[in-house]
Amino acid sequence: MPRGNVPRQPSRSGRQEGARRVKGALLKRAQSSKGAKSRNVAARPTAGRAPLNAAKAKAAVLKKKPASGTKDAALRVSTYDPLAPDRVRHIIAATHRSAWELLVATILSAQSTDVRVNMVTPVLFEKYPTVQDFAALEPEQLQPDIYSTGFFRNKSKSVVGAARKVVADFGGNVPQTMEQLLSLPGVARKTANVVLGTWFKKNEGIVVDTHVTRISRRLELTKQDDARKIEEDLMQIIPRGRWTDFSHEVIWHGRKLCLARGPKCADCSLEKLCHAADKTWSTVEIHEGAQP
Ligand code: SF4
Repeated sequence: MPRGNVPRQPSRSGRQEGARRVKGALLKRAQSSKGAKSRNVAARPTAGRAPLNAAKAKAAVLKKKPASGTKDAALRVSTYDPLAPDRVRHIIAATHRSAWELLVATILSAQSTDVRVNMVTPVLFEKYPTVQDFAALEPEQLQPDIYSTGFFRNKSKSVVGAARKVVADFGGNVPQTMEQLLSLPGVARKTANVVLGTWFKKNEGIVVDTHVTRISRRLELTKQDDARKIEEDLMQIIPRGRWTDFSHEVIWHGRKLCLARGPKCADCSLEKLCHAADKTWSTVEIHEGAQP
């Protein structure tokens, strides 16, 4: 997925383009939590009003401290932890609101970057909120909306075709088995594994993308270069309960440290376990067969 971070430019109005839907989703969740409507001043929609600046928002929250001993008190009065699991879960949930949105985003991510897909999808799902909306389109109608992700003609056919099948054969719900997912147009094992593992929490396989391929070969966990064969090798040696987490962690490692060119080996916690031929720094013997 992303190969670089591209900071988004603020619009002249001071509001990020496409940020409205995500903000709306976060606000919706905040408001639906117990008692949030009456207590959480910072979570109230500000449509039509100037947003609170940081100092005012902080003052508002402090002013509205909940009674001690309540659940909200535990969440808010205790020290703010940006990495708190509950907070991270909400952030992840706000990114994709349904299995369908995750499926579409994964189809669009082929030969593209997360940064690009994350720019396209908020606008796309604002315009077509349901799988039925996509099913009612002709592929050509979708093309302008996803043009910038590349391969837009094929991706349009895949997304509309998948939507029609989900509606016609699965009652509008993304199916939850590998076999059924693979029956959707444009869905191969990688996309099916993403949806099954990330959304449905089912370890049916291991996502093998460019990062997993490169790092598995560098670490000599496989000698294959075909995605399906790499997945089979990994499924033999990684405990099933770790399949989804393993691919997430390896993808993260590939984005941050184990880059395709110039891996940051001096900073890598796997350095002593890695004998890759293209390491940039090493304290262990290099294996010529350990090629990315
Ligand atoms: S030591 Fe270098 S090549 Fe090996 S896994 Fe770490 S970053 Fe990748």
